[in-house]
Amino acid sequence: MPGERRGQVGWESDNPYYEGKKHREPTVCVRCGLLYRDGHWQWAEEVVPEAARAICPACRREIDRYPGGYVLLKGAYCTKHWQEILNLIKNQEEEARRTRPLHRILWIEPRDAGMEIATTTAHLARRLGKAIQSAHKGELSIHQAAGEPLVRLVWRRD
Ligand SMILES: [Zn+2]
Repeated sequence: MPGERRGQVGWESDNPYYEGKKHREPTVCVRCGLLYRDGHWQWAEEVVPEAARAICPACRREIDRYPGGYVLLKGAYCTKHWQEILNLIKNQEEEARRTRPLHRILWIEPRDAGMEIATTTAHLARRLGKAIQSAHKGELSIHQAAGEPLVRLVWRRD
């Protein structure tokens, strides 16, 4: 990767959240049970006793409360329709996790007179923001600094 620090042979990214990080195969996440195999973390259908042990990037973010994306929901509409919006958020997360188990919601908390959703990945934050806009209209803005993996979305409907 251009601009990325290089190391000796066998060097691995020291960013514990970096999802392209290579692990021995198979490796099991001791916290959530995901299995690292064929180059990515996946739902394990069976126990693999010989698997190496590690903590997957999503669990690390949960432990550290270190999001990869944020969605801030603002406006009176959000308060009035909160249960519907929350159901949509939960359904979207569940659907995303089925195929990409590292995509998780870290928290949903009141913030700045709105609700803040923090996610493990920028991808899930974008997915949630777009799903909310497509179901509930309103205005969605996406903020991401060049070269920064972190994404912030703000959705508003008054
Ligand atoms: Zn895990």
